Amino acid sequence: MTFEPVFETQQRPLLVAGPCSAESEAQVLEVAKALKTVGIHLFRAGIWKPRTRPNSFEGVGYEGLGWLKRVREEVQLPVTTEVAKGKHVDAVLEHGIDVLWLGARTTVNPFSVQEIADALQGVDVPVMVKNPLNADIQLWIGAIERIYKAGVRRIAAVHRGFYKYGEKRYRNIPYWQIPIELKRQFPDLQLICDHSHICGIPVLLQQTAQRALDLNYDGLMTEVHPNPPAALSDSRQQITPVEYDQMVRSLVVRAPGTEDSLFWRELDHIRRQIDEIDDEVFQLFSERMKLAEQIGIHKRNRNISIYQPERWSRIRERILSKGTSLNLAKEFLSAVIDAVHQESIQHQGEVMNRPMDPGHKASSGELKSVKSENSPK
Ligand code: PEP
Ligand code: MN
Repeated sequence: MTFEPVFETQQRPLLVAGPCSAESEAQVLEVAKALKTVGIHLFRAGIWKPRTRPNSFEGVGYEGLGWLKRVREEVQLPVTTEVAKGKHVDAVLEHGIDVLWLGARTTVNPFSVQEIADALQGVDVPVMVKNPLNADIQLWIGAIERIYKAGVRRIAAVHRGFYKYGEKRYRNIPYWQIPIELKRQFPDLQLICDHSHICGIPVLLQQTAQRALDLNYDGLMTEVHPNPPAALSDSRQQITPVEYDQMVRSLVVRAPGTEDSLFWRELDHIRRQIDEIDDEVFQLFSERMKLAEQIGIHKRNRNISIYQPERWSRIRERILSKGTSLNLAKEFLSAVIDAVHQESIQHQGEVMNRPMDPGHKASSGELKSVKSENSPK
């Protein structure tokens, strides 16, 4: 698949902002005018809201499309809204909405995505596809493919984070590696960070937006409301136009590259050192696995099980305390030591279950002595 930008602008980041939901004509126009002065590129507002529970505000529906039309014509801002059904697509196209987006609860469902793709067949309108609720990159790619197959080329991916049970820090955990992998596979696909739905609260918005820009995202999507505490949906995460303006001004936009050869030489010098360290680290891992194999042989000879819980707890504790004093994050240490342990078990398992050397005397007497050693005294 090769894509075209949803929005032609030399400016980075592409700024998409507006309320979670269009609530009234006055609210929409007020916030759109304020955002126009901040310099956004695309105004967002939800008309049909896919709410987790019934009896919440489910959007103003078709009436809101007229309000967005006024934003286009009177405030002179292109507009975008969420579509979740074929009927929504027909309605937004009739009202001249500039860009459509598929929400996280739609991307997750191939039937809904296909219905939208069918309605888009032969229509040249840009579409933004949010990531699915669950951390499944294939589902995200699949939704993009369905829209692409309808003939749409101006597609962007919106990263809004992933639902994780028990997650406290973020409303939706970012798992940056997923959008990074998407961008690796599709380098010309524009990537937009919806930091409002990732963060769930305003205090994290700035740092999350900066992280996205540092990762070379093309744009940001932010929920902005004239009076966030009174918002009918997502009131906790919305910010005022003034707060939005401050946030945007504080961001540092970094260039993806430079022509300056001195910069690249210095970078190369550091990168070579990194490569050397990586070589050493993996050489050491390989030696560690050889030791694990020796342990495997040792345990096999006495018919002792691979997994020794106390030893494993001690290794984990030791690495976590040593590693944190070396300024390494607990999550990183945990992930690394868990992976090393898995690999170790794999190596031990292989040697344990390898057919015995012809020279090895595995007599029943040997097994008996192990049994009697292990039997309760
Ligand atoms: C929204 O943008 O308001 C929305 C409902 O987002 P998501 O689909 O990411 O939950
Ligand atoms: Mn929202």
